[in-house]
Amino acid sequence: MKTIVPALELFRPASLDDALEMLRQVPAPIPIAGCTDVYVSMNFGTLTSQRFLDLDPLDSLRAIDVQDDWLRIGALASYTSIINSPLVRERLPILVDAARQIGGVQIQNRGTVGGNIANGSPAGDSLPVLAAAEATVVLQSADELRRVPFTKFYTGYRASVMRPDELIVAIEIPPVPGRQWFRKVGTRAAQAISKIVMAGVRPGDGAHPRIALGSVAPTVIRLPRTEEALAHGASPDDAAEILGDEIKPIDDLRSTEDYRRTVAKNLLKRFWSDTA
Ligand SMILES: Cc1cc2nc3c(=O)[nH]c(=O)nc-3n(C[C@H](O)[C@H](O)[C@H](O)COP(=O)(O)OP(=O)(O)OC[C@H]3O[C@@H](n4cnc5c(N)ncnc54)[C@H](O)[C@@H]3O)c2cc1C
Repeated sequence: MKTIVPALELFRPASLDDALEMLRQVPAPIPIAGCTDVYVSMNFGTLTSQRFLDLDPLDSLRAIDVQDDWLRIGALASYTSIINSPLVRERLPILVDAARQIGGVQIQNRGTVGGNIANGSPAGDSLPVLAAAEATVVLQSADELRRVPFTKFYTGYRASVMRPDELIVAIEIPPVPGRQWFRKVGTRAAQAISKIVMAGVRPGDGAHPRIALGSVAPTVIRLPRTEEALAHGASPDDAAEILGDEIKPIDDLRSTEDYRRTVAKNLLKRFWSDTA
């Protein structure tokens, strides 16, 4: 590790209110949850802050429950707790599928859904699920609580509407109609960062399908033109061509633009036939 641990300052709040007060400082300390992304950034030297806010004591942010028929997942819920939750399995099984494919067991035990959202990698595996499920991100500061539709949360590559004095406290998910579908394509079946990740929801009543893709743009994206075409009866082949125009994958060390575009089109066709 490049980081000299004793040089770091760690704030440990006794309660959520306490944590939000600590975040009023300028500059605000960096929140840490499972630390699985933070440690990597520190080691790479891309995170140079010396002051951190430990969210671990905030047990109230680990709860998974249903309120007014919406599934509410606390930001500190780990992937393991999501995998083991009967409520998530029943209401949003594609989040369980995604959680099972994130890292290995150690990462699933420590990594949190709030951390995945805040980290904002376009390859984050929970993110297409939350976009397709039309989730809401609950943000809280010492002054206010606000709810942001997940599809409006990101403003660019790893950039979001979240302010330094805010925490993600929960994710709320309305009842999801119809069939759900998730697929991650990586180098291996396990312990691999996504080359492409897709989540889809296909309501049974002919309403618009919802399709979200990761790793094809600076942020996770929904595909409004592709969704519209399918809703109006386009064939999967035609819809796949529209999808090809709608995404902007890049060449990087994990994959090529061409591979990502081809796989994304194939995944769309698979989504449509699997959920017919
Ligand atoms: C070996 C390895 C394998 C991995 N595999 C995958 C994978 O397959 N798929 C995948 O998607 N990811 C993967 N990751 C990335 C990582 O595990 C996830 O993004 C995880 O969800 C991050 O959660 P965390 O609690 O550890 O976040 P942390 O590292 O604690 O924090 C990440 C960022 O989020 C901020 N943050 C955390 N919680 C909050 C909050 N409640 N409110 C506001 N800001 C917050 C932090 O300040 C930081 O900027 C992997 C990481 C490693 C090291």
